[in-house]
Amino acid sequence: MGNPFQRIALCCAVALLAGCHSNPKVDEAAAPGTVACRVGDESALRAIQVEVWRGREEGLSAYDTTRVCQQLQEVSRQLLPQGVRLRFEVMGAVQTHTGLGRANNATMQSITASDGRLRLVIVDAVAQCGDAAGYILGCTPQLGRPLIYAKRHDPFNDRAPEWVIWAHEMGHAVALYHPDAPGMSTVPERIMTYMPLPQSRVLVSHESANFAQLGSVISPPRMQAALGQPPGPAARIAPEQLLPLVQGAGPHGVPLGPLVHLGDAALLSLGVLLEDSASAGGTASSDPGWPVRINALVLMAELGGDGAQAHVRQYLTRQVGPDNLDIRLYGLSALGRGQRRHPTQASLAFLQQATEAGFWCADARRSAGDCAALADAASEALRDAQSRP
Ligand SMILES: [Zn+2]
Repeated sequence: MGNPFQRIALCCAVALLAGCHSNPKVDEAAAPGTVACRVGDESALRAIQVEVWRGREEGLSAYDTTRVCQQLQEVSRQLLPQGVRLRFEVMGAVQTHTGLGRANNATMQSITASDGRLRLVIVDAVAQCGDAAGYILGCTPQLGRPLIYAKRHDPFNDRAPEWVIWAHEMGHAVALYHPDAPGMSTVPERIMTYMPLPQSRVLVSHESANFAQLGSVISPPRMQAALGQPPGPAARIAPEQLLPLVQGAGPHGVPLGPLVHLGDAALLSLGVLLEDSASAGGTASSDPGWPVRINALVLMAELGGDGAQAHVRQYLTRQVGPDNLDIRLYGLSALGRGQRRHPTQASLAFLQQATEAGFWCADARRSAGDCAALADAASEALRDAQSRP
């Protein structure tokens, strides 16, 4: 039996001279059901067949089959020292579909898990994952099912490397849950932490063992699926705990269940996170960053009453500060969902107006493409607002 660690050591020695791991051979035009690439550990007992889908959004065009094969190779390479031997067979070239760009609980039902094959869906944004909403890097709609969603990697805002997020979602697909809680990361070194960071690279032994079942439908212990938490009433968050929770929940969104009792007074306290730190007299180090701002705005929009919703509408249309399209897109869809909890005439009228591109292009600095994207998001939000949950 060859020693794989020896091979890796050799690979890395060569890598120092020649630039790291070899590029996999990829057939970008592979037909569905035929192999586009084989990557990972050749000594693995079996190959996991993977099917990859993505939205048509411009930001997703970089996710061709080659990039996906390389990233899966990276997952396999990084998990080998954790006792996991993974070999992937990507079946067919990456498939592009409309309507996959912004994933939420409703759109994620359009694809079903298939036993014996891992489905990976790459999207522009994950706006909702079960009970969580906000800025979310990945979602496994059902624990123990081989269907995972990953948001396109944003090197400026997403601190954990992309392979960590993919491995984390694969962990949920083999029924692993989070060992810690939102806003209270106690094991940042573990891949399955609620808040993956660059140092989250470790699997503990029972977790590594579960990866042997990747690609199969397995029955998880009873869990609150999307959050990967054991069931049970979620502890209510007190108003004074809200700010630290939102600041600490960056890459995994914020669970709404423990927050639904909060009123506008508590939610409006999140307003400080929305202010540009420079204009608020803060320093660069106090800048909360876009993921945290997005979480703050989404909570105000999704859970707020009249006051918090008014603040959200004002934020969405303000013309000061750096123009960030993403936060407006997240904010609009959350405002739509929020209408099911607290419908307000003012927000419905606002969403109606916002479905016109001209509404957004009143700000002359905005590009026509961004105006159209915002108008589309408002139309979707309005449909959401008027649909029954
Ligand atoms: Zn997770």
